Amino acid sequence: LASLGYSTGSLGIMLFDAGLLALVTAPPVYWLVLNPVHREYEKRLKAESEAEEMTHMAITDPLTRIMNRRGITVGLLDAMAQAERYRTPLTVAMADIDHFKEINDTFGHQAGDRVLKDIAALLSDALRMPDKVGRYGGEEFLIVLPHTGLVPGRKIVERIRASVSKTSFDLGAKKARLTISIGVTQFKPGEDLEQLMSHADKALYDAKKGGRNLVVARKSR
Ligand code: GH3
Ligand code: MG
Ligand code: MG
Repeated sequence: LASLGYSTGSLGIMLFDAGLLALVTAPPVYWLVLNPVHREYEKRLKAESEAEEMTHMAITDPLTRIMNRRGITVGLLDAMAQAERYRTPLTVAMADIDHFKEINDTFGHQAGDRVLKDIAALLSDALRMPDKVGRYGGEEFLIVLPHTGLVPGRKIVERIRASVSKTSFDLGAKKARLTISIGVTQFKPGEDLEQLMSHADKALYDAKKGGRNLVVARKSR
């Protein structure tokens, strides 16, 4: 500094000036530059999280909080594309509550809703990544088991069926047992969504016809 012509005294003045400059310029810099940038950033974050929330709502069933038909269909189409491309097995199951209309008729719609919530929770708890489950219709749930063949897939849904039949469900006035029937099928490369779903539906129909509280597997051919 001395070689640049500054004395110790002028260094003090220089630092004081710099401090003063910072003090004078900081507020306008903040209000004119940083604050609008900050606000814009926060606005974008909020818009992003609102968009995320809307996407989430569009694919979530409000009653059970699991995926709705749209969500699980997208999940299934994605699993089908992966299975097609990498030639990995994929098993799909349709589960339907047995005599659900009777539950509504006997204990009321609210009790029925509660059962739907409990079954949905039981199904999601029984599965793990990358398995998926969604409420496909009123009391029908679609289960997607990527990287799973028909034999292990059948075992998984058989375990779920047994677990439902052993559960005591809260129906408000009383607790009761109920059962589900499941149709299970393996995806065959080249098959489209409609063909795959019709195999699962037919297997479910056979499970109902076979006396309910049953898993029926249907081989893709
Ligand atoms: P099955 O053993 O053959 O499947 O007989 P089911 O009585 O379960 O089948 P059915 O198709 O006759 O009746 C389904 C019932 O599910 C009728 C409908 O009112 C009820 N349901 C559909 N969606 C809801 C819902 O969101 N909440 C309630 N509480 N009930 C619903
Ligand atoms: Mg039913
Ligand atoms: Mg049904």
